[in-house]
Amino acid sequence: EGYCSPSGPIENTLCAYETIEELNKRLYPELHGIVESNFFRYWKVDLFRECPFWYENGFCMNRDCGVETADESHIPEKWRTKALSQLKVSDDPNLPPGCDINSQSFCYIDSESPSSDAQYIDLVLNPERFTGYAGESAHRVWGAIYEENCFGLSEGVVGGLAPAEERKAWAGSGKGAGLQGGFGNGVKNSLVAKKEEECLEKRIYYRIISGLHASISIHICADYLDQNTGEWAPNLQCFVNRIATNPERLANVYFDTVLLLRAIARAAPYLEAYDIETAQSKNDAVGIEADKKVREQLRAVLDMARDSGASAFDEKALFNGDDALELRDQFKHNFRNVSRILDCTGCDKCRLWGKLQISGIGTALKILFELDDKAFDPKRNPNLLQRSEIVALINTMHRLSESLYAVETFRKMYAETQRVE
Ligand code: FAD
Repeated sequence: EGYCSPSGPIENTLCAYETIEELNKRLYPELHGIVESNFFRYWKVDLFRECPFWYENGFCMNRDCGVETADESHIPEKWRTKALSQLKVSDDPNLPPGCDINSQSFCYIDSESPSSDAQYIDLVLNPERFTGYAGESAHRVWGAIYEENCFGLSEGVVGGLAPAEERKAWAGSGKGAGLQGGFGNGVKNSLVAKKEEECLEKRIYYRIISGLHASISIHICADYLDQNTGEWAPNLQCFVNRIATNPERLANVYFDTVLLLRAIARAAPYLEAYDIETAQSKNDAVGIEADKKVREQLRAVLDMARDSGASAFDEKALFNGDDALELRDQFKHNFRNVSRILDCTGCDKCRLWGKLQISGIGTALKILFELDDKAFDPKRNPNLLQRSEIVALINTMHRLSESLYAVETFRKMYAETQRVE
């Protein structure tokens, strides 16, 4: 068996590790091209919102924590006009100012409206990598995010608790264990389920967050600053400490990958029709050519997500018990809280990528759990998703895909150390 090469079914999905490995060889180069395009590289975000939960200095002394904002002249005017006509900036005093949200949103999205404090960031100029942000502040943020896993399972409101046997099947130790386990059935008996057992939603929440955390760790290790030489390079020991010694973390990256692929496959009719043109005018031959290329790459990604069997995630198995609606609302509430906790991240670069990826995952959850198939008809529902959600979704897919790609590099590095010894 290869180093850090899981095999067999990915728990809670209907897909195998090997399928994702194979797919990623083709998926990663396409995604990599897409995120460098004009449409997908600019994302609007407010990085200066105060931490609402505790006092956070918010000032990382390390220069690698800094973020460069984009030159506004590169931003097509039509995005702003479209944003203005399309978005409702919430005036709810309980929400962070300048946020867009609707009842289906799993996270707060900074408004693309010119009146908001958010600024466009060029993601390509601010790559996610080692920043030196660590210690108490970082641990506090991660701790708070993991703690948002409470699904109010008070006695009598026990929606998601599945009977013990089902829970075991779901835990996925055996082959073929997947989401299609009939969790919704027998939920009424869940009052008798042992207290210490976690509900499905809680486990899924943990897997999603742990996969994101692991993916961020992989990027840190893949683009690591050697403080002695000043060189950026992959750091195998970093990967060993953070990921290889905890294989379930890597498994959770695969899980998130399947989740995102499934969401992209589902929203494909809508994404395919979305206006991603950025050419300045009919005479902008370079811009027109570049837009054409991105459209082709996007179509290739959508086809891969649809056809490969890699997006075999059965979302219908989640939130389908008697208390499905209540649990789904709690899940949504918890995710929204995560987007606020991220305002407490004391490193701008980390905050940027944390927010982007939570928005991407939030968009995937919205696509999977809030919308029915008919919703993705672009003619019927032209304003279903905001540009910002689409950019976050595709960039998050790219982050995950790049993590899996980096794992391949670490496998080779490890093999090399074995050969030398
Ligand atoms: P941490 O990664 O801080 O983990 C804390 C504890 O959580 C660990 O001790 C372990 O018990 C547990 N844990 C770790 N990984 C997992 C997992 N995958 N699943 C479940 N449990 C786990 N640093 C950068 O250099 N660049 C960045 O871009 C960056 N982005 C960040 C974004 C956010 C939102 C946050 C909160 C932090 C970010 N950081 C970033 C900091 C980075 O994530 C670590 O916190 C830091 O490197 C210190 O690492 P650590 O080894 O102490 O463990």
